[in-house]
Amino acid sequence: MSDSVESSRSPLKRAPCPNCGEPWLRPTQLPGRLRCVNCLSRFELVSQCPNCGEHQTILRMSNTEDMQCQSCGASMLQPA
Ligand SMILES: [Zn+2]
Ligand SMILES: [Zn+2]
Repeated sequence: MSDSVESSRSPLKRAPCPNCGEPWLRPTQLPGRLRCVNCLSRFELVSQCPNCGEHQTILRMSNTEDMQCQSCGASMLQPA
């Protein structure tokens, strides 16, 4: 018996804004750049973890998990 946790999870779940905590980050015209429409902060999705220095492969920008370091879980979003 499996419940439908996987299917009910949105594939486009957004990461919360590191500044205001609201899930209003939107991609901009520039690749790897996002802007929070709530607090109007701009962020850059970096490929190297600012916390532990681990280099990450960015596979899918739409997935929240891909915006976190796979080693330490730090956010890969940096203020831009
Ligand atoms: Zn914000
Ligand atoms: Zn890290």
